[in-house]
Amino acid sequence: MRILQAAKNAVQKVGRLQQNAGCFSSLASVKPEPQPNVLYSGIFINNEWVKSSTGATFPTINPANGKVITEVQRGTKADIDKAVVAANEAFRLGSPWRTLDASERGRLLYKLADLLERDAVYVASLETLDNGKPFTASYSVDVAMAIKTLRYMAGWADKDHGKTIPLDGPYMAYTRHEPVGVCGQITPWNFPLLMTAWKIAPALAMGNTVVLKPAEQTPLTSLYIAELCKEAGIPPGVVNVVPGYGDAGAALVENLDVDKIAFTGSTEVGKLIQRNSGAGNLKRVTLELGGKSPNIILADVDIEKAVEAAHSAVYFNQGQVCCAGSRTFVEESIYDEFVERSIERAKNRKVGDPFHPETEHGPQIDEEQQQKILSLIEEGAKQGAKLVYGGKRHGDEGFYVQPTVFADVEDHHIVAREEIFGPVQQLMKFRNLDEIIVRANKTNYGLASAIFSKDIDKINYLTQGIKAGTVWVNCYNVLQAQTPFGGYKDSGHGRELGQYGLRQYTEVKTVITSLLQKNS
Ligand code: NAP
Ligand code: MG
Repeated sequence: MRILQAAKNAVQKVGRLQQNAGCFSSLASVKPEPQPNVLYSGIFINNEWVKSSTGATFPTINPANGKVITEVQRGTKADIDKAVVAANEAFRLGSPWRTLDASERGRLLYKLADLLERDAVYVASLETLDNGKPFTASYSVDVAMAIKTLRYMAGWADKDHGKTIPLDGPYMAYTRHEPVGVCGQITPWNFPLLMTAWKIAPALAMGNTVVLKPAEQTPLTSLYIAELCKEAGIPPGVVNVVPGYGDAGAALVENLDVDKIAFTGSTEVGKLIQRNSGAGNLKRVTLELGGKSPNIILADVDIEKAVEAAHSAVYFNQGQVCCAGSRTFVEESIYDEFVERSIERAKNRKVGDPFHPETEHGPQIDEEQQQKILSLIEEGAKQGAKLVYGGKRHGDEGFYVQPTVFADVEDHHIVAREEIFGPVQQLMKFRNLDEIIVRANKTNYGLASAIFSKDIDKINYLTQGIKAGTVWVNCYNVLQAQTPFGGYKDSGHGRELGQYGLRQYTEVKTVITSLLQKNS
């Protein structure tokens, strides 16, 4: 019982995302599997597991100890091309998938959600093993939200439809929302399972087929989902998953039989993808990229609550969140107290074994990210940002970084400009509202933002001024399947989730028919 209570406490701490818990068995019945068996490590094409055409494999690592979990088949261009052939065949007019009723597509997605719910503990354990995030989060956030996303999109399958349009003359016009075709989807390592759900759910609901390339650091849960798609009864070729690294993503973007690319990852790679997606056929592209989101704290807040919210906005998922509130702007009159309290909170953050129920904070994804974060911290301190807590590696095993707090951060410091993608809080002081709008927008990114205040006029003023795809007011990281998510500027384009998310997976076809004027 103690463990379960501790697990509940840890879950409550990781932030507002936990609102999504409760769509399946409560934490009270949960016991993680610290050594989950890896059942699938191959390439999934046409509902079959195959080896890579070159015979090559690559290791996936447990970030908590740096040890190899298993070898995974390494898909390259030849494997991607085979998967695209399968996806095209499944998309052919008259195929089992294309002749399926829209309501049946919805039913299959509901079934997939049910299977994920059945296996929630196993999948959450696998995610924690492969990614390092605390099990409490894998279970209550990643798996819970993945299930909710599948169910939300399942409901749309037979409800998204076109219009009839009045025309001049003896005509009638209507629009059809048709699937785009074969969707190449490249998912990141920070939310491997959840991003798989965000990508495949709207694509399948709208009748597309998919070739998904998971991040090489974390392929295991996407591969397991592939098997669940088969078990749910999704026909062969509709969902194909090809793990790989180094060239598989590019092969997907180059393939002329792919109609659309959806990518979540760095702005740098997003820009490459956008450019290359237009090099052969003109693919539709949606990009969900980096961020450097402002979190604006006005002086009238309940300071204890605001400190906790700002803490969770930065450190959730070890800071590996594209919409992390990594620039915390605090109004001058409460700034010093806010710094003191933020340091205290960071000190109390429980860093450790991700399978332990009290752990709030696990390792970074790999050594490369760990080193990148540590070198940005070093550079920030050299430039004059005041390192007031942390700043070093945590422990001597795995890829941990201490929760780190910088105070007196100025806009030009590297830690205020670059996406750190790690547990590093920047505390910055501001004096007035006009100043803060300019400073909040002084970034190439525009993914998310937040305002904490009790003053509705100030909140509304700031909400209009901030250039970002999401503005949270008195909350942070509330991401749900019903609300669109995506960025302004270099944070990408297109929106995922919600009704808006369906647009990225449909083409609009206009049908104009001549009407008979009288019976001849
Ligand atoms: P990344 O650069 O964003 O993306 C790596 C993924 O992109 C891999 O799946 C890779 O596949 C694919 N890729 C690389 N070059 C490609 C190309 N030319 N065409 C098509 N696909 C290509 O991720 P990273 O290197 O792991 O992380 C770097 C930084 O990205 C992080 O520090 C963080 O700032 C950011 N990031 C952001 C998010 C987010 O949620 N927005 C998530 C993860 C990382 P191949 O291996 O097959 O090439
Ligand atoms: Mg791994």
